[in-house]
Amino acid sequence: MKNKRIDLQWQILIGIVAGIVFGLLLNYAVSSGVNPELLGGVKQLFTYGGDIFLRLLRMVIVPLVFSSIFMAVVNLGAVKELGKIGVVTILYYVTTTAVAVLVGLLLVNIIHPGHGIDPTALESLAMHKGVPEQVAAVQAEGKNVVFVILNTLINIIPDNAAAAFTHGDILQIIFFSIFCALIAGLLGKKTEPLKNVVSALDLIMQKAVSLIMIIAPYCIFFLVCSLCMDLGFSSLAALARYAFTVIIGLAIHSCICLPLLVVIFARRNPLSLMRSVMPALLTAWSTASSAATLPLTMECLKNRAKIDERIGDFVAALGATINMDGTALYESVAVIFIAELMGIPLPLTMQVVVFITATLAAIGAAAIPGAGMVTMGIVLSAVGLPLEGIGLILVIDRVLDQFRTAVNVWGDVTAAAVVNTVEGRTVTRTTVREEETSAL
Ligand code: ASP
Repeated sequence: MKNKRIDLQWQILIGIVAGIVFGLLLNYAVSSGVNPELLGGVKQLFTYGGDIFLRLLRMVIVPLVFSSIFMAVVNLGAVKELGKIGVVTILYYVTTTAVAVLVGLLLVNIIHPGHGIDPTALESLAMHKGVPEQVAAVQAEGKNVVFVILNTLINIIPDNAAAAFTHGDILQIIFFSIFCALIAGLLGKKTEPLKNVVSALDLIMQKAVSLIMIIAPYCIFFLVCSLCMDLGFSSLAALARYAFTVIIGLAIHSCICLPLLVVIFARRNPLSLMRSVMPALLTAWSTASSAATLPLTMECLKNRAKIDERIGDFVAALGATINMDGTALYESVAVIFIAELMGIPLPLTMQVVVFITATLAAIGAAAIPGAGMVTMGIVLSAVGLPLEGIGLILVIDRVLDQFRTAVNVWGDVTAAAVVNTVEGRTVTRTTVREEETSAL
């Protein structure tokens, strides 16, 4: 009999479901006071299990981004092609992020999740009575949104290439790799040995990612399980309408707006595209980190979604750092929600400010857990709301982070599909699965 292996996406899904069920059972046991020491030990072990996976993924990010971008540029050859791909990608990223904020603003203005919440319930919800530390740090530096963006732009150029690698700054590494690859192209034959080395490194990293994927379902089980053990249900109930608004917004953006773009511009079936990158989306949901998911996103784009490797690697690496549709949407909803909670009405002009700042703040957010919440401080300050408001929603930030990160990665995937079709004509095309096109 043929040994049929369950597809990776199902394995990960089983890991997630089992993690949720088991985690909730343990959560119940913790709240019922069952042997706290034993349960504490179990939780610690599970956290280690999740950490192994995250560390392995983070370990390969830097060499993978460097080698894949370097090889993508070397193989693309012409600067003109790269420029065109860059322009289309950035245009797509900014436009979809702005659309995501609009969806968030529309929904929050229809649902008004902050109206009618009992003010006494707020007190118990506020995890931090003061301003959360990281947010205060951004504030202390006196950063406003313009400076955040200018900073991000200037910081793309590393002032120390080695530091860019040791700090794992993806944008700087992308800049450095493109810079080196273009110069290698100019120097021609003489740089052949380096190209061979980087190409071998690229192969090794790709193989490493496929090996890491083997343990992904188990580690994701541990990760989700330890997260569920920490869930506080009373706070979830109190903030349910707010969480519902964010999740519905994310669903509309990822199931209607982005798929429309895939159909119109990529001429692909969005469902089969989504299915092909499901392992990356589920990993994004479990880890709440676009950066940690990046190796899997690249792998899925190339091997499962059949996107030209040169385009997929470039678009995904750039997207992991600057394209955050989910984060942008969440920030717009959260800011209006906080304003409603505090009884401070935000007129249309202020909502326009939210629209602009949330779009820019999401671009500036790092691809790590909780980053969106930190840059949200910028949006709050821009409309004059107290940063303390963040303390009120902090308690369910992790759960929402998981959903918004999955949408962030889905945004990168749709961009890769669109750029692959729009610009793929100018670079040598990789065949897009016949049946997907005909399914439309
Ligand atoms: N965790 C998100 C990401 O990595 C960023 C955020 O906090 O919204 O994409």
